[in-house]
Parts: sequence; structure tokens; C-alpha cells
Amino acid sequence: MQFQLPQVYFSKIMRAIVEFDMIQEGDRILIGLSGGKDSLLLSYALAMMRERLKKRFSLCAFTLDLMFDRHFDTDALERFCQRLRIPYHSQATDIAAIIRENPNRSACFTCAFFRRGAINRMAKNLQCNKIAYAHHNDDAVETLLMGLFHSGQISTFLPKTYLSRTGLTVIRPLIYLREDEIRQAEQYHGMTPIASPCPYNGKTARQAVKELIRRLSRENPLLYPHLAAALRENNVGELWPAAKQRAEMADVYRQYMKKPS
Ligand code: SF4
Repeated sequence: MQFQLPQVYFSKIMRAIVEFDMIQEGDRILIGLSGGKDSLLLSYALAMMRERLKKRFSLCAFTLDLMFDRHFDTDALERFCQRLRIPYHSQATDIAAIIRENPNRSACFTCAFFRRGAINRMAKNLQCNKIAYAHHNDDAVETLLMGLFHSGQISTFLPKTYLSRTGLTVIRPLIYLREDEIRQAEQYHGMTPIASPCPYNGKTARQAVKELIRRLSRENPLLYPHLAAALRENNVGELWPAAKQRAEMADVYRQYMKKPS
């Protein structure tokens, strides 16, 4: 098959693979294929890399049908994978029902938790040692801000993570691509993304952060590059020390206070 991804895409994906040493000889990589624009490009790009890289590795793809109301067309994804010579698997789950039964919990938190478990299990069943996710640069920046806004933590996901409990390694080869670039990639891989059947799609905390970045970027065109620079450990400046425990505070407090006469 003739791959037609422009050089700029190839360079960014190669930069991620090389910088974070994502692929080793003999890897069996399971692609998380939701059918959205990101995972379609990821599948296409990894199929291309399988032909172009010196290291030999194999691929398979997996779709988890969360069983939201609308029928999810896995047939189209299977045909797409056939074209790329990627063995394809899909599985229905009861995640939508679990979300409905737990209305007081965050839908996305519940969904991500059960999805991760199901994908890890499938990777082990298929004897894969790696899972490739289609997270891109905007996802990493949004996750950084969501952590800050919702839990006061400065943190985001890593380009490559070893999961010690399962022995699997998660890789994110699209991490240097911007979401707009991925949107435009349909013209190269030729597959129309499948609309998400999830009723929460577009109403999430992530969407709110995405829109905030878009709005603020109109006044400050350097906002996004600055946020992206903040993903790096070496760009963390001075922060306050961790809060003292009550007992520690009481000790210091006594050093300051005169004894009552
Ligand atoms: S938007 Fe829907 S599919 Fe995505 S994480 Fe949230 S609940 Fe799951």
C-alpha cells in the first residue's frame, strides 16, 4: 500500500518515537482504535512506520464498543484495518450501563477507568507488550490545565509509561501533533471518522478547557506554545514547599510564642 503522509507528520511522529524510545525490535503493539480522527491517523501512521522502520514490530487494533444507544459501526473500522493489514478485534462492554447506574460519579472518570482495564486485558489476551493511544499535543496541554483547575496538581500523562502491574507499556506516538493537523489528516488516510455515540461528547471538562484555550489564544497568540513548554519538567520554576503537618506546625508555633506569664 502507498502511504501518503506529508513529511511534517512523519517528522513529528518520528521525533516522538525516537525521543521517547517507543518501539523495540519484536514489539507487539495493540492500537486503541475508537474510530475517531485521532486513532484513525494513529493506525495509519503505525502501519506506515511498520514498513519504514528498521525495527520489526507487529500491530493489531482493538475497538471497545461502550454500548451507548446508537449502533457502533465496527465493520467500517475492520475494513480500514484490512486495508492497512492490521488484525482487528472489537468487543462490546457494559460501560454505558455502569455510567447510567452511577449518576453521582463523573461519567468520563468511570468510563476511562473501565476502558483502561478492558484494553489492558485485551492486550494481555493478544500477547501484546505495548498499547498505542492516539493522544496528541492538545490533549497533553488540556490534561495539564485540567489537573490544575480540578485538583490543584501540576501533572499530565507521559509520552511513554510502563505499567508495572500489568507489564504493559503505553506509547503515544502522536504526542507532537496538534489536533488541527490530525483533523486535516483524513485527506491522507481516506477514512471518515465515526461520530462518537457518547451523550457526554462535547460536554466534558476537557471541552471547557479546550474552548478556554481557544478563547484566550485570540488575545495571546503565544498562549499555546507557552502552555506546551510547561509540559517539560525543566520548565517548572520555584514552587512553595509542601504544607507542614499539624504537629510540625505546633512545634514551630511554640518557638514563636511566649509562654503565658
Ligand atoms: S466523553 Fe464519553 S466516551 Fe469520552 S470519556 Fe467521557 S464518557 Fe467516555
